[in-house]
Amino acid sequence: MLIWFATGNEHKRRELASILPETELRIPSDAGIDFEPDENGETFLENALIKAKALYRIVREPVIADDSGLCVDALGGGPGVRSARYGAEDGRRLDAAARNALLLRELGNETNRAARFVCAMTLLFDEYRFFAAQETLEGELLREQRGLGGFGYDPVLYLPDRGCTVAELPEDIKNRLSHRARAADALRVHLGAVMGRQRGERFF
Ligand code: IMP
Repeated sequence: MLIWFATGNEHKRRELASILPETELRIPSDAGIDFEPDENGETFLENALIKAKALYRIVREPVIADDSGLCVDALGGGPGVRSARYGAEDGRRLDAAARNALLLRELGNETNRAARFVCAMTLLFDEYRFFAAQETLEGELLREQRGLGGFGYDPVLYLPDRGCTVAELPEDIKNRLSHRARAADALRVHLGAVMGRQRGERFF
């Protein structure tokens, strides 16, 4: 089943492809679509819907979109929806290692290290109809970066029950327990409607 995924992030495409093997994901760059919607929502869900609707208006086919980030208790839930832009200056974003270093500096010796990845995901059928789920991967912030796998904040989020950071997890394990995997799992049951639509059936 072919479905659009509203992202420019190849890493996320790989992750979601392994989480939803029943789909063939197509992202805007596959079709030469220049896709940079203004992610100015105040919540993960708003941003996921902004991305999904922006792509739907171009392709007129069902779209999956997500918005995710790291929420740190000691930072009042930040950087949250600003995770990708954390530490950016004049619109220039830091690379992941520099962003992680900045985060650890900002936390300093704070003893409350509780943090989680959050992912809001939507499966949008058209302008008026969508399903959505929001899930988390709970952990604690380390005091240094550890591990080479994954992307973004993976090297600083430690999972006590696994005894390693997300960046130290084998890819297939991360893709089973991540915030993105959990949100996608919740939406999986609705993928049947996409298939029905592709066969020309009306759904619901
Ligand atoms: P967006 O969802 O594409 O807007 O990206 C949000 C930002 O959150 C990314 O740039 C990453 O820095 C961070 N992020 C989201 N998901 C993950 C993850 O699975 N691991 C590490 N960082 C993540």
